[in-house]
This record gives sequence, C-alpha cells and structure tokens, in this order.
Amino acid sequence: MEGRKALPGVYKLIFTPGAHFRVQRGTRGNEYLLNDGYRLEVWRHPVFCFSCRAYTEGEVVTPVSEVDAQIESCRRELRRVTQGRTDRPRVRERFNDLTERIERLELRRSWSRQRVSPPRCLECGCTELVFLKRGEEIANPSGKGTVRLEWLGMCSLRPRNFTYSPEGDRLPGYSLPQL
Ligand SMILES: [Zn+2]
Repeated sequence: MEGRKALPGVYKLIFTPGAHFRVQRGTRGNEYLLNDGYRLEVWRHPVFCFSCRAYTEGEVVTPVSEVDAQIESCRRELRRVTQGRTDRPRVRERFNDLTERIERLELRRSWSRQRVSPPRCLECGCTELVFLKRGEEIANPSGKGTVRLEWLGMCSLRPRNFTYSPEGDRLPGYSLPQL
C-alpha cells in the first residue's frame, strides 16, 4: 500500500491435472517517472504474459474511483486520529503516516487520470496479459489443464531498480534515487 515500501509477494501457481506447483516471487524497486519529475511506485500483480510466454508481473492501473475511495478511507481515519490526543508519539506517527499516504494516493490519482495504455507486462511491455486472481482456477494459458494462484506471503528482496514512463514503458538508463 501507499506510504510504505510494499514488499513483493511470494505466490504459488498450482497446475492441474497432477497438482504440481511452482513458487514465484514478485519484484520490488519498480517506479514510474512522472512528467513533473515525481516518482510513484508501480503496483503489480501476477500475470501470464503472452509475449514472454511466462508468468510475470503486470501493472495494476487502479481506476480513479478506486483511488478516490482509498483517499476517502485514509481521510476518515485521519479525522478519527486527530480527535484523540495528538501530542502522543504514536498518534503523531499515525498522523504522519496517513498524511504521507494521502499525498502519494493523490499522486496516483493524477497519474491514473492521464493513463491511456492498458496494463503492461513489467518485463516486456506487452498488454496481452491474463491477470491471475487469488484462489480462482482458470484455463492454463501456458498449456493444458488449469492454473490457480495462492499467496504464500511477503518477502524482502533487493530492489531491482526499474523505472517506467507513466504509460508503463521501461526507461533504460534511469536509476531509482539512492536512499
Ligand atoms: Zn511480457
């Protein structure tokens, strides 16, 4: 979620018949370079990419209405937090966290409003993708039978330092700012 560095997911692809499975890890360190110079984390989801012929990650292009709902929920919580004693360190921390999250969501909102391209594969930029919904069994796009996605949890990986245009095209030669 916004406001903190999202950890990549670890997930399991279960194929039938045979129930054999494969464990995959998501990536981290993927950011958009926006036209005004701001950077925004790329939200990702496991996909099958028809160009890579592989299970990769695709961009999540969250609709404006959904971003608005998230902003509203943060604002509601912010109001609740500020009704309590704001001089307590934990309250202050929560306040700062929410304020930062709202700022980043507003950035995501303006990016989403201008975004034209459908979601792309983060590896090759192709838009021909199948999004794998957690727990849902679908026809296996890579062969026979079916495939189902299960989350195993989150893991920490070295960021891979990929930068994308607002339309999701990889920008080689750009580096993430060093923390
Ligand atoms: Zn691809």
